[in-house]
Amino acid sequence: MEILAHFHSPQLLISQIRKNIMTDTKVYGEYKGPYRQKSVKKRIEALFLDNLGKVLDRELIQRAARDPKTKKEPENWHQRLSELRTDDGYTILSWRNRGDLKVQEYLMPNATKRTQVGKRVRPNNKTWIAILERAKYRCEWMEGGQACGLHEGEVDPVGGGRVKLTPDHKNPHSLDPKADPFNPNQWQALCGRHQVTKKNYWDSSTGKMNTYAIVQFSTRSEKEVVFRFLLDYFGYGMDEKGEIKRK
Ligand SMILES: [Zn+2]
Repeated sequence: MEILAHFHSPQLLISQIRKNIMTDTKVYGEYKGPYRQKSVKKRIEALFLDNLGKVLDRELIQRAARDPKTKKEPENWHQRLSELRTDDGYTILSWRNRGDLKVQEYLMPNATKRTQVGKRVRPNNKTWIAILERAKYRCEWMEGGQACGLHEGEVDPVGGGRVKLTPDHKNPHSLDPKADPFNPNQWQALCGRHQVTKKNYWDSSTGKMNTYAIVQFSTRSEKEVVFRFLLDYFGYGMDEKGEIKRK
C-alpha cells in the first residue's frame, strides 16, 4: 500500500526501491515461545506478533508451527502463513515485496489487519461433489491454456504438502450469492496453492486483476521489465551506471 501511493510520484517510488535494495538494516527476530495455541496458524501468528518489524526465517517459523504436544512439524505451515495474509488480512512481506529479504524470509511490519470482505459463500455438499466429479478430483486452475491438474491427496511438487481441493467462487461474490451455492458452474475446485494465487491476484470486491500483487509475485527479471516500463511511462530513463534521470 505504501508503495502504491508512491506511484503518483516516480521520484519517491525510485528512492523507496533504492532504499529497500541499498540499506542493510535487517533485524532478525527470535523465538519467544513456547507457542501453545491450538492451531498451526495461531502459533505462526503469535510468533509474528512477537516479532513485528523483524525478519523471521523458515526455521523459526517451522519451530513455532510445531505441535506443542507431539512436536510434529506440520507440512502445510507455508499455506497457513499465506492464510494469515489472505484470510486474516495481515501484511507479511517476503523477498517478493522487499529487495533485501532472502527467499524463505518473512516480515510482518505491524499488527494492522486489512478489513475483511463480507462473509464467504460456499457451495452446498451436493454441489461440491458435482464440482469435484466434473474436475475429476483435480485442481482446475488454468494458466497459459494448461490446467494445474494436481489430484486430491497427491504431494504438490511446487508448494509441498498434500493437495486438498477447496471450492472457489469463479465470479465476484456480489453477482448472485443466493443461487450460486446450488450451481456447480459458478465454482471450480482449486488446490491450496492456487487458492492463494487467486486471492492474491484477483480482487473479488472489484472484479479486477490485482496488478500490484501480480508485480510483487513476479520474478526479479520480470519486475525489472515492469520497472523500466514505468520509468519510461513517467518520463525517466536509466543510464549505464544505473542513474535515473528525467528525459
Ligand atoms: Zn492447482
